[in-house]
Amino acid sequence: MQLLDGVLVSAHIKEQIKQEVIDWQAKGGKKPHLAAILVGNNPASEAYVGSKVKHCEELGFDSTLLRFGSEISEHELISEVERMNNDDSVDGILVQLPLPAHISGDSVINAISPAKDVDGFHPISIGKMVLGQPTFLPATPYGIMLMLEYYKINTSGMNCVVIGRSNIVGTPMTLLMSRNTVPGNATVTMCHSKTKNMKEFCLNADIIIAAIGKPRFVTADMVKPGCIIIDVGINRIDDPTKKSGSRLVGDVDFDNVAPLCSYITPVPKGVGLMTLCGLMKNTLLAAKQKAGVAVE
Ligand code: NAP
Repeated sequence: MQLLDGVLVSAHIKEQIKQEVIDWQAKGGKKPHLAAILVGNNPASEAYVGSKVKHCEELGFDSTLLRFGSEISEHELISEVERMNNDDSVDGILVQLPLPAHISGDSVINAISPAKDVDGFHPISIGKMVLGQPTFLPATPYGIMLMLEYYKINTSGMNCVVIGRSNIVGTPMTLLMSRNTVPGNATVTMCHSKTKNMKEFCLNADIIIAAIGKPRFVTADMVKPGCIIIDVGINRIDDPTKKSGSRLVGDVDFDNVAPLCSYITPVPKGVGLMTLCGLMKNTLLAAKQKAGVAVE
């Protein structure tokens, strides 16, 4: 079994991005600038946004963090998004999800200019992705593709099971894995909460991508020997042995599944770090496109 090491791969990709920013600035380009919008004080969202801002600093990007109380109205939040759309210094905009229940995430995402949609959630970005046209890919599936590429894992012809069908992970992941690309070219089955015989689908899979949000859902009896496992889940569980009283686990029962696999991502230090790489690559791309560079 080989660990798909998010620390190693993300360090490699971040070095590439840093160098690209240096080269870009040497040619007169301006620093990429990410504007992150955070509503409320959900601790997980705070941590994710904090990490994104920290990565901007590390890679030589500018960043702006806009924080709003959870009482902000949808109309006010959309006005803030529009302000960022019209701010010429900003290249990429991300709105940290989830938003409070009184705000429609779809309406806010739809308000982001597609040219600045570095999370890749806007309908135009998704539509272009479906059609195989150049666009911003959703950061987590993009990061997973970068990881498969780094390890030169040839997924062509593989049976791939994606568990989860969210707009931000499961659905785009299913699409990217089935496209005529490298990596890609897999035969993909998308499973969800209404899937019957989940175990049967999983046992037939050469690669399982789990994005469910249920701790240790994928167990050893669901995995065939040699399977590749990509664990997207981030779940906090009680652990009295830890000082904090809790720890993070994925959607896969790592301890019992890992010995069966050819490759597996750990949680933490796996897919989460690749998501940041996807976001940063998209932001650099947005800055270059804004400056008129044609990007394939
Ligand atoms: P989500 O929007 O809650 O979607 C979860 C999906 O899992 C849904 O499609 C749901 O099916 C499916 N599901 C739930 N219970 C199931 C069951 N018992 N059997 C089969 N399918 C089931 O979650 P998400 O945003 O995609 O995130 C999934 C997980 O990934 C979470 O733990 C999240 O924290 C993590 N995540 C990690 C990263 C990262 O960078 N590592 C990024 C994003 C998300 P239905 O559609 O039928 O309800």
